[in-house]
Amino acid sequence: MSGYQTWLREGNFIDGAWVGADDGASIDVTNPANGEVIGTVPKAGEAETLRAIDAAQAAFPGFADMALMERLSLLWKLHDALMDNQADLAELLTVEMGKPLAEAKGEIAIGAQYVRWFAEEARRAKGEIVPAGVNGRRILVTKHPVGVVGMITPWNFPSSMLARKLAPALAVGCTVVAKPATATPYSGLAWAALAEEVGFPNGAVNILTGSARAIAGAMMARPEVRKITFTGSTEVGKELIRQSADTVKKVSMELGGNAPFLVFDDADLEAAVQGAMVSKYRNMGQTCVCANRIYAQAGIYDAFVARLAEETAAMKIGDGRDEGVVQGPMIDMGAVEKVEELLADATGKGARVVTGGGRHELGGTYFQPTVLADATQDMAFAQEEIFGPLAPVFKFDTEAEAIAMANDTVYGLAAYAYTTDLARAFRLNEGLKYGMIGINSGLITTVEAPFGGVKESGLGKEGGSQGLEDYLETKYVCIDGV
Ligand code: NAP
Repeated sequence: MSGYQTWLREGNFIDGAWVGADDGASIDVTNPANGEVIGTVPKAGEAETLRAIDAAQAAFPGFADMALMERLSLLWKLHDALMDNQADLAELLTVEMGKPLAEAKGEIAIGAQYVRWFAEEARRAKGEIVPAGVNGRRILVTKHPVGVVGMITPWNFPSSMLARKLAPALAVGCTVVAKPATATPYSGLAWAALAEEVGFPNGAVNILTGSARAIAGAMMARPEVRKITFTGSTEVGKELIRQSADTVKKVSMELGGNAPFLVFDDADLEAAVQGAMVSKYRNMGQTCVCANRIYAQAGIYDAFVARLAEETAAMKIGDGRDEGVVQGPMIDMGAVEKVEELLADATGKGARVVTGGGRHELGGTYFQPTVLADATQDMAFAQEEIFGPLAPVFKFDTEAEAIAMANDTVYGLAAYAYTTDLARAFRLNEGLKYGMIGINSGLITTVEAPFGGVKESGLGKEGGSQGLEDYLETKYVCIDGV
């Protein structure tokens, strides 16, 4: 075994053992760059998930009671194992997901940073002593791990989306049952292999692949699963929130976005173009925080569109493992067809293709990065998440108009603005109804900050000190007669 195959696991990890589905069923996993089958994973369902939940429940008391420094030393080892194997883990990620190798290496590194960050934050999971209103009483507020956590993650960041959940959960002593996306299961299963290697106790980390409905159904039904944390589409997130009601689970939801990217006349044009490039095209436009709608002010509009189109046309497209490639294939044909539909809707309503405009000559799921000018609010992408390399540029005149158009969506994940006017930056922070705002930055994800949305983009935060809080219950004890 060498390279990415070192970390390719074709089983599920339940109670410290690698196992197949009970009935032996499996699913093929393909490389989107060439359609080749990389391997198979088990098609597990309800029975296997119930066993994983039982294992996590049995492991929980011991894991939560483990001395803090002993538990955190496992996270430190996990961090080091990720970085020691960064190249192989990144290649595995690229092979199953398609993103360029440099982005995959970055994803492994930020995953490792989440592990280190939460291992540090867990040492500060402090309670408090609150002054009592009457004499003789003492009021103590304490923090406790929520218990068994169910995790469901998407294909676009198959490693780091799990990192942001696993790291805080394990740091505070929760045990885990996780289901990675079916399109990209290996980066998820690699976390189990790493956890096994560094010595997490059996049952602390369980990772299963297979039927989303059956696995999630078992997690949602069982009362022992005290928290569910999901990253994915708003549609599925809403369904999980409904299902969580029956056992009143704590929920964290990282859902869809529709990020506006505002460029004002006073912006540094080159900085705005570079910010738009990274925000729009990272991961082939398949991130929840990708610029979905670019709004440029009338005075800078033509120059911005021209430079954005120039930079877009210069990107190298191909297999993410090839040297110099900055755009890989899209995840599947469904994703390509969705972008085509949005493009046809827009051009039918008067949008103008400046560069790109269709499938790439490489075939398969490769798509030309596309810049559209003359976008308007009646086009479907004004409301829908594009999730592909399509950059529509809208025109606006006033700041108030830009803020109103930016907020005209059910989503509220990330927003960006380029301006050199400091007072405007403050007004934008207050006026934009988004959980995360980048002013003169197109890349804002970092372990120290709370990542998460408002409105239909979700509930809860990942990263920052808030990301640890989501895995803790707050209790209070009143001691009387002191
Ligand atoms: P998705 O279809 O919602 O799938 C996400 C996960 O949910 C996968 O593991 C999937 O399993 C599972 N799933 C599908 N149907 C389910 C059901 N009925 N019950 C329970 N689980 C179910 O989303 P996606 O297409 O993979 O990911 C793209 C979406 O994720 C976009 O909307 C994006 O904005 C969002 N996202 C948000 C964030 C954030 O932090 N806010 C980050 C990344 C992505 P299968 O793979 O087996 O179908």
